[in-house]
Amino acid sequence: MKYEMPAVRSRILDAVHDAYPDAFEGLAPSKQIGEEVFTGPTPHPNEVLNLFVQQKVTSALPMAYYMAARRGLDSLMDMRLQAGARLSPEILRVAIKGLLALHKMELKETHHLIFGSQASWSCSRSNCPSRTTTGPRVSEAHQKVVDRITDSSHSGTKILQVLSLKEVCGGDYLGFCESCVEGWEVGHADVRKNAWGMLPGIFGLKG
Ligand SMILES: [Zn+2]
Repeated sequence: MKYEMPAVRSRILDAVHDAYPDAFEGLAPSKQIGEEVFTGPTPHPNEVLNLFVQQKVTSALPMAYYMAARRGLDSLMDMRLQAGARLSPEILRVAIKGLLALHKMELKETHHLIFGSQASWSCSRSNCPSRTTTGPRVSEAHQKVVDRITDSSHSGTKILQVLSLKEVCGGDYLGFCESCVEGWEVGHADVRKNAWGMLPGIFGLKG
């Protein structure tokens, strides 16, 4: 009996589609995303990217590029990887260009989110740095939050990850009140969504 390759392929593609969604809604925090979905030893994201490029799994490419790029340059260019996980100069060029664009976007959007939103809600605590009249000390406190968020991405990016201020700033939120923290986390949801919409363009997959 002959294998029905198209049927096998479409079944594999269904499984892949869930882990490498082509719609923002597929990125729900509860969902398993990326290389973790493969059974057996977890493949390196570069290897998955190579596979999808070879197999022309076009709808999954924006996410596959992102998963490889988010770990940063050292991971993209890791020469100790086995041959199947090493990226060709062409794929590497696209991935690095995309990573730099996402990194820049993350810095800019985080800065805008933390500094631009001052006083767009009322603080729940009188000693929250956002409540103090704007001055150098306030900026310093906000800058610390920006640094914590962007530093946590190291040389890669976390722009598509749901932002947890508790994770990056610790339980005391660096002195900011719950309202401020909540406002930033809600605002970051828009940043994620915008970044998601830009992935195909960023990784040269459009037009
Ligand atoms: Zn506050």
